[in-house]
Amino acid sequence: MSARAVAGCQHCGKESPLISQALGLCLVCVRRDFNQVLPLIEKAHRQARNLFNLPFQPPRSEVGLQCHICVNECRVPQGSRGYCGLRTNQESKFKGATARKGNVSWYYDSLPTNCVADWVCPGGTGAGYPQFAYSQGAEYGYRNLAVFYQACSFDCLFCQNWHYRYSATQESKVDVLELAKAVDARTACICYFGGDPSPQLPHAIRTSRLALDKTKGRILRICWETNGSMHPALLRQAAELSFNSGGCIKFDLKAWSEELHIALCGISNKRTLENFKRLADYARKRSVPPFLVASTLLVPGYIDREEVSRIAAFIASLSPDIPYALLAFHPQFMMGDLPVTSRRHAEECLAEAKRQGLKRVRLGNIHLLGSDY
Ligand SMILES: [Zn+2]
Repeated sequence: MSARAVAGCQHCGKESPLISQALGLCLVCVRRDFNQVLPLIEKAHRQARNLFNLPFQPPRSEVGLQCHICVNECRVPQGSRGYCGLRTNQESKFKGATARKGNVSWYYDSLPTNCVADWVCPGGTGAGYPQFAYSQGAEYGYRNLAVFYQACSFDCLFCQNWHYRYSATQESKVDVLELAKAVDARTACICYFGGDPSPQLPHAIRTSRLALDKTKGRILRICWETNGSMHPALLRQAAELSFNSGGCIKFDLKAWSEELHIALCGISNKRTLENFKRLADYARKRSVPPFLVASTLLVPGYIDREEVSRIAAFIASLSPDIPYALLAFHPQFMMGDLPVTSRRHAEECLAEAKRQGLKRVRLGNIHLLGSDY
């Protein structure tokens, strides 16, 4: 145990190293007394977002400009910014990221990468060879184009990539043509992540189409790592691109309980769960290489066996073949005071996910696992 002061729950007074000081609430109180503790939850997110000049809730102005790209359905008043920070209402027009110009950075990652799906995907295992993979095993010699969208539709207090927040409100200037050009002869797959690709999905979809056009006759898989908060019509376009190219959609299912999801991520998970369900038909049609992959970060003190159990049961009800990765948490961002996920916590959750009927479950980031709480 570190020497830091143990944080307390501001609602029930309990003290524990598994309570985040920034949230200031224990799991029991979030679940049991959600309406009473909501002001404390809002305070935590307001503090996290003030640091980056981001609006603390999706704007809902009666006379605002409407954005439909993600679950937040922002109605942005004159001179203000949408929740993700990408677009401002200037004289009743959105200025900022568009389907043509994105707020994005990219790099190449040699295959096999440490992607959430590497244990089941063509790049990591050769699954789907020869239609969708270059090799019968891992695709050595090839690489992934990793495309990082620098804004997000959620506000996870445990964000594992939080630095993008410094860029979310900056100018969006990467043209889809420029990004598609980054696909070279050794690129076997593109993975859009972030932040999250959701708030800039039109840009990613356009880039994908351009890249697929110029690589006709060879393999180029289109993949996504997302919180699943996009508009269903955009999801369908992204899904078609992945389904036809042998790529996969990786949904991060952060919590089952909507209350807990709001506490940790600032936004409801309803759209995410509905969208995941929408993809189940594709997943049943193509299990090799898997079309749909789920993951959950095991946040100590909050994402417990009960959460994992409900998520796993939900996935299994759609198809027991959908791969599910449980990921070890590393203390980051506003939750830098929590410990790493313990081996016991991880193994309990793994056993529970299997008990719910899932056939392909695994622990990711096991090098991070720590001692018991
Ligand atoms: Zn409490």
